[in-house]
Amino acid sequence: MLIELRLSEIAALCDGELIGSDQVITSVTTDTRAISESCLFVALRGQYFDGHDFAAAAIEQGAVGVLSDHDLELACYVKVSDTLCAYGRVARRIRDAFAFPVVAITGSNGKTTVKDWLAQSLDDKNVLKTRANLNNRIGVPQTLLALSADHDVAVIEAGTSFTGEIPLLVNIICPDVVILTNASGSHFEGLGSIEGIAKEKGALITGATSHAKVILNADDAFFAYWCDLAEGRDIMSFGFTSQASLYASDVRLGPESSKAVFHYKAWSIGVTIAGAGRHQIANGMAVVLALVALGVDFPLAVTKLLQPILVPGRMARLKTTLGALLIDDSYNASPTSVEAAIDVLVSQQVQQTWLVLGALGELGDQEQTIHRQLGVYAKQKGVSHLICVGSVACTAGIAFREQGGHAILCDTHNEAVQIVDELDETHAILVKGSRSAKMETVIKALLN
Ligand code: ATP
Ligand code: MG
Repeated sequence: MLIELRLSEIAALCDGELIGSDQVITSVTTDTRAISESCLFVALRGQYFDGHDFAAAAIEQGAVGVLSDHDLELACYVKVSDTLCAYGRVARRIRDAFAFPVVAITGSNGKTTVKDWLAQSLDDKNVLKTRANLNNRIGVPQTLLALSADHDVAVIEAGTSFTGEIPLLVNIICPDVVILTNASGSHFEGLGSIEGIAKEKGALITGATSHAKVILNADDAFFAYWCDLAEGRDIMSFGFTSQASLYASDVRLGPESSKAVFHYKAWSIGVTIAGAGRHQIANGMAVVLALVALGVDFPLAVTKLLQPILVPGRMARLKTTLGALLIDDSYNASPTSVEAAIDVLVSQQVQQTWLVLGALGELGDQEQTIHRQLGVYAKQKGVSHLICVGSVACTAGIAFREQGGHAILCDTHNEAVQIVDELDETHAILVKGSRSAKMETVIKALLN
C-alpha cells in the first residue's frame, strides 16, 4: 500500500480503541510470514486457525501493532468488535486514497474469466487485479490493500455465498465500473432462490458510486430489474439481442474460437473471440464494454478478444498420453457452466465425446433435480458417454441412462481415470465438477 496511516486513525475508522502509543503503519497483513516494516497485523479467525493466537509472534517478528477483537497482553494494539469488518474498513480507506478507476465484477458465472480477460486487455496499463479467485470478505480487502500509486486501474472480483455478502464487499470496493455477468442457479444453499441470487448480485449496483458505469447482460431474465436498480447511473448492456447497446450477430462457434459481428453505436465490426462457446462471446462483450467505459476506443477494444486467456482448470485444452483431447474445466462448476462446457465438448471434431462429471455443490434442495437435468441435457446435446464420480453426480448418470445413453457410475476418481486413460485421438474428454468434487485429481492422473 505504501501510504502512511496512523493507528489512531485506524482505531477511529473501525470504531475501535487504540491501546498503547500511536504509530505509523505502511502495510497490513493477516499472515505472520508476510510481516514487513511498519506493518499492522490483523488477527482474523478462520475455519482452522485464530489469528489472535499469533498476535505476540507478529509483534516479535516486527509488526508495530495488532488489530484484535479482544484484550491482549501487548503494548500496542487496536481493539475492535470484529476484525474481519475492520479489515474491510482499512481496505476501503486505502481504496479511497487513489483516484484511478476501480472495476468490480460479479455474477453467477464468468467473473474470473471477465476479470482476467479485462486485466490482460488493459495491456498498456498497470493493473491490480484479484489474484486467482480471492473474491470474498478476506480476498477483496487483501487485493485492495495492495493498491499503490503505481497502479492505473484495479479489477476486482466479488463473489457471494450468503445473502448480504455483496453489500459488504461493494462498501469496501466502492467501484466506478460495475459488471454483472448473469444470474443463474448456483449457490442455492446460501441465497435461497434465483430471485435471491439476482437481488444479491444487484447490490453491487446499488452500492456503487452514483457516477458509476453499470454493465449489464441484456439477455438475462433479471436485466430489467437491474436496470431499475441502476437508476441515474450510466447503463451499458451487452447481449445477443439488438436491444443491447453492444450486441453480437452472425455468430459462428468453432471448437477453439468463435466469430461474430459486434454492433455498437455506428460500428459493426467482425470479431474473432479466443475461447470456445457462446458464453465466451457474452464474456467478451462484457470485457469490451468495460474497456470502452475505461476510455478505450471500441475498434481497438474488440481486437483484444483475439488474445486467449489461459487459466488452469478453465476450458484448458490438453492431450492425454494416447492423444485424446482433454478439456480441463475442473476448476469449478455451476449448472449453467456445465451446460456451456457440454456445448463446447459436443462441438469438437472427434468420433466420441466423454463427460467426466463430479458433483455440483451448494445446490441445497435443488441438488437432485439439477443433476438429473444435467444428465438429460448431456444426452440431448449428443454426449456419447457420461462418467459420474460419486453418489451425487451419479443422479446425472441415471438420468442419462434413462434417456438411452451410456453412463458409468464410479465411486472414486481413479475408476474414472482407468476408463478414459485408454482413449486415443478419436475421443474428446471434458472433466468438470465443483471445487469440492476435486476433479483436478482426474486431470493430474491422466497427465502423469
Ligand atoms: P466462481 O464462482 O467459481 O468464482 P466464476 O464466476 O469466476 O466462478 P469462471 O471461473 O470465470 O466463473 O468460469 C467458471 C466456468 O463457468 C468456466 O469454466 C466456464 O465453463 C463457465 N462460464 C464462464 N463464463 C460463463 C458464462 N458467461 N455463462 C455460463 N457459463 C460460463
Ligand atoms: Mg471466480
